[in-house]
Amino acid sequence: MENIVILGGGIAGTTAAEEIRKKNADVAMTIIEQEHHPLYSRVLLPHYVKGKIPREKVFLKTWEWYEKNRIEMMTGVRVESFDIPNRFVRTSEGREVPFDVLILAGGGELNVIGGEPRGVSYLRGVDDADELVGLLKETLMRPEGDRRGVVYGSGFIALEYINIFKHFGISCDVVMRGRGFWSSVLSDHSQTVLAKKALDGGTLLHTNEAEPTILGEREVTGVKLVSGAELPCSILGVGIGMHSDQSFYRDCGIDIDRGIMTNEYLETAHPSVYAIGDGAQFFDTNVARHVVYGNWMNAQSQGRAVAKTICGERMPFNLVSSYATHLFDMHIVFIGDVDRKAADEVKQIVATDSSSVEEFYRKGKVVGAVLIGDISGRATITARIAARE
Ligand SMILES: Cc1cc2nc3c(=O)[nH]c(=O)nc-3n(C[C@H](O)[C@H](O)[C@H](O)COP(=O)(O)OP(=O)(O)OC[C@H]3O[C@@H](n4cnc5c(N)ncnc54)[C@H](O)[C@@H]3O)c2cc1C
Repeated sequence: MENIVILGGGIAGTTAAEEIRKKNADVAMTIIEQEHHPLYSRVLLPHYVKGKIPREKVFLKTWEWYEKNRIEMMTGVRVESFDIPNRFVRTSEGREVPFDVLILAGGGELNVIGGEPRGVSYLRGVDDADELVGLLKETLMRPEGDRRGVVYGSGFIALEYINIFKHFGISCDVVMRGRGFWSSVLSDHSQTVLAKKALDGGTLLHTNEAEPTILGEREVTGVKLVSGAELPCSILGVGIGMHSDQSFYRDCGIDIDRGIMTNEYLETAHPSVYAIGDGAQFFDTNVARHVVYGNWMNAQSQGRAVAKTICGERMPFNLVSSYATHLFDMHIVFIGDVDRKAADEVKQIVATDSSSVEEFYRKGKVVGAVLIGDISGRATITARIAARE
């Protein structure tokens, strides 16, 4: 092994490079990253937007770090294709970069909506966060009754926008495709607890809606629902999930389903080609099926695990990962595999006015859980999933 190429300089790809370097001082490593920044924390972006931490605290690596560790970091460069039999990747600069080992750590692609006037915001990267900071400043300069935001979506990023608008005292309407937050995952009770929390916090929910029409040509002035109702706003925060860029990987001969298919070692069907992080659909031994998880802990741990395998300590990836978030002061934790369609049974364990705990079972074993409000059972449920009870 002489040359490792890593597609994607997020937490998965960078952790892989860092861990490989600790084990192998000689191998040449190149990270190809289409953004223009060294590694930063996407998790910290909402904190930066709210002004709770300065912008520089978002960054986790410096340019010097790459140099010191002899990792070539090609930023602002996109991998356009790869040729697996001949073992090279082709970049947007027209360069062909050879590899012995290829790690695919490209994350997911954002789902977007039609129309892009100023004020349509996607909170994915630090550039989006910078733009949102500017939009918020402008909105806060308006008269109080005129400070309005709309959120389109009902998952993790939608919640970040709701919390951000609340933080700045900007009134907020939420337009959702389903009947509530995470409508394909959560029980009616969980939906009710979250909806009540949102309403009590002054957020208006518009459920079972189609994609709204954006109003305003150069700048967003509002959105229009199918019913004809108009919701004025100067910021439209869009959080409608991610997908894997299927055609790109498929055209390059990689097996794709909801993500890049790998086994429990994070190996694709091609020798020395691995996939890790948000973009990987790996075999999770804890829940005995292929899953895609979009969380920081999973991506970072897979970076560590793939480094071990590449450096000769091959072992199956094993982690019960979780995603912790909040709606105002209400804690929410997703643990393990919470795909309702893939579960044989979902048990409502706790159901009070302000909390809800659901456990997801398959073949008699607990494989996932969602805790809302009362999250005290988090460690116990995680241990039960790991124990494959
Ligand atoms: C605002 C926000 C808040 C979040 N909060 C939480 C949280 O509280 N808890 C939690 O667990 N998770 C959270 N997440 C999710 C978490 O950040 C992700 O799961 C994690 O960053 C995934 O890491 P990754 O390395 O797999 O992918 P990414 O971070 O997406 O990195 C992949 C990189 O690959 C690059 N890339 C893709 N294709 C190409 C190509 N063809 N050529 C070159 N480069 C390419 C992309 O530009 C990207 O930088 C949050 C995410 C966001 C956006």
